[in-house]
Amino acid sequence: MIIAIDGPAASGKGTLAKRLAAHYGLPHLDTGLLYRAVARTLTDHGDPLDDGAAAVRAAQSLDLGHLDETRLRGRAMGEAASVVAAIPAVRAALVAWQRSFANRPEGAVLDGRDIGTVICPDASVKIFVTASAEERARRRHRELVSRGETVAYEDVLADIRRRDARDSGRAAAPLAAAADARLLDTTDLDIEQAFQAAVAHVDAARRETA
Ligand code: C5P
Repeated sequence: MIIAIDGPAASGKGTLAKRLAAHYGLPHLDTGLLYRAVARTLTDHGDPLDDGAAAVRAAQSLDLGHLDETRLRGRAMGEAASVVAAIPAVRAALVAWQRSFANRPEGAVLDGRDIGTVICPDASVKIFVTASAEERARRRHRELVSRGETVAYEDVLADIRRRDARDSGRAAAPLAAAADARLLDTTDLDIEQAFQAAVAHVDAARRETA
């Protein structure tokens, strides 16, 4: 079973994907880390984020199975990732690895922006996770503060809006719900309620295809 989870920044999709993977005993891939790692490589080398050739070289030479999550998680890397993620050749360089992760015999849970639309269009279950920009900014602000970053809520909200616009507006694999995705709005749900709703979606999809 392949479970495809897509949605905008801080919608809760990463936490949901992780919990669904544990619940169904499947491996999990957070595909945002791939774009964050490309951005990190460029900044480590002092290359500008819009240097397409350097970004493609970085994407092609990533050690995809061993990404150091702690170096990739911060606020700046999310923003930088969305710049390199708009470069079509960077996306193309990362497709095959994501598909081979998804197509392992036991299945997998992948989360990102284009899993249900581009990477795994035949996924058994597709969930598009949303929440209002204000609620997502509150969550991301709490998370950043707990990681020791000093940042104002208004700046996080502005980041989220800018990232939504860039991710939805780009030509290459924009953030979008697949036509056959199930929508899950987590604005008024806590993580437990959101998880139960996601499990209900997965179980319903499995019953329909059984
Ligand atoms: O999910 P996360 O916030 O870690 O993603 C960082 C950025 O990577 C996103 O804003 C988006 O631009 C890009 N991304 C993408 N496609 C994916 C996953 C992430 O374009 N499948």
